[in-house]
Amino acid sequence: QDTQPGREAAMDPRPQYIDPAYQGSEKLKGKVAVITGGDSGIGRAVAVHFAVEGADIVINYLSDDEQEDAEKTLALIHQQGCRGVAVKGDVSDPEFCEELIMKAVSEFGTLDILVNNAGQQYVQSSFEDISAAQLEHTFRTNIFSMFYLTKVALPLLSPGSRIINTASVTAYKGNPSLIDYSATKGAIVAFTRSLAISLGDRNITVNAIAPGPIWTPLIPASFSAREVEHFGQDTLLRRPGQPSEVAPTYVLLASNDGSYMTGQVIHPNGGIILNG
Ligand code: NAD
Repeated sequence: QDTQPGREAAMDPRPQYIDPAYQGSEKLKGKVAVITGGDSGIGRAVAVHFAVEGADIVINYLSDDEQEDAEKTLALIHQQGCRGVAVKGDVSDPEFCEELIMKAVSEFGTLDILVNNAGQQYVQSSFEDISAAQLEHTFRTNIFSMFYLTKVALPLLSPGSRIINTASVTAYKGNPSLIDYSATKGAIVAFTRSLAISLGDRNITVNAIAPGPIWTPLIPASFSAREVEHFGQDTLLRRPGQPSEVAPTYVLLASNDGSYMTGQVIHPNGGIILNG
């Protein structure tokens, strides 16, 4: 049976967070995960999959505007009989990063999996139009946050723990309208590899996932109607992916199935790199 969403399902304005055929098998039973950006998009899909696999989860949400989304994610976690909490705050703020990580310990007693996934909305601009302020904001949100969160989490992580960072195909393919964003994603790949080397002796794995065009709320919010219509058409599969098609890769890296993978980047991208 073909359970992959077809083009119609892939372009459904409602992202699919989990394939109804997905069967959990307690791969993350007893584990505690922090997932940044877990209120929405890929982060929500990861939270739902981790809950189906039995993890307790802490997510963040940026502001009151995202509170309802965060509550929806929490409801999906609780539906699976798992514990979940949401903390409001900005991951580009080092003090908030400390609060977020400590919440996992105060609520659930430990931390096993850190998913650095939050990323800022696309601000499309030519190189000439990227201001110093925009550049700084993009780097603070997408990469400084990973340093802060990882620094606070490291002393708490025991052998066997996992760090998973969301990069992007733009780290490899480039994007002339998203030069600052693409640069942060390239930095995430180098950060991931370097940290994996540094933490191998502690048996902590560090990997990145570099999605291609994925149908999340970030897309219609960031692109024109024409761009949205063409979104994902340049992949080999001629459609965007759904969050439900990316999240199982996070389960792989977080669970025993991924125990021998570190310093790697996984590419759920519809083959876009091979298309010219
Ligand atoms: P999304 O907008 O649904 O999710 C982004 C999340 O990051 C939101 O929850 C948002 O609240 C959070 N966030 C943004 N800035 C924040 C801040 N300063 N502090 C705290 N939280 C903040 O979009 P998404 O597509 O699910 O994006 C998730 C990740 O996937 C991002 O890192 C994005 O760069 C990456 N990505 C997305 C695609 C895609 O096509 N959708 C492709 C490659 C990589």
